[in-house]
Amino acid sequence: MEKILISSCLLGALVRYDATGQKLSHLQITTWQQQGRIVSFCPEVAGGLPTPREPAEIINDKVITNIGDNVTIEFKLGAEKALRLCRQHDIRFALLKESSPSCGRNTIYDGTHSGIKIAGLGLTAALLEENGVKVFSEAQMPVLLKALA
Ligand code: SF4
Repeated sequence: MEKILISSCLLGALVRYDATGQKLSHLQITTWQQQGRIVSFCPEVAGGLPTPREPAEIINDKVITNIGDNVTIEFKLGAEKALRLCRQHDIRFALLKESSPSCGRNTIYDGTHSGIKIAGLGLTAALLEENGVKVFSEAQMPVLLKALA
């Protein structure tokens, strides 16, 4: 059965910058878990960043934390690892956390660390889309289910 890459935080893993998760409760996720179809992944942790970590935002093609550290290399590494994993498992669909500088599918923060969102993709979501993996946010579950049907 076809596998789906899912942001680890949406599965409840405590991997967000503030060491929390953001579990998405959906019957379909439980079913996928029972079927062994979920590949859980956190690009930022896979890229070598600690948890907790400073929040980061994309600005001018770089990823910068709220204290000015440049973490672009770690974010890019996480994105590359996500793509590698998708290729290993023949994954064509991903369900990623909206607005994250890695996982955001439709929106990201504007780079000023002031809570303002703009249209855009996180680094991992963009790399997956560029390479043929369709990415959906947690708000797009019905569209993902339709695509999988
Ligand atoms: Fe969740 Fe993605 Fe952020 Fe990891 S990088 S905590 S999976 S949104």
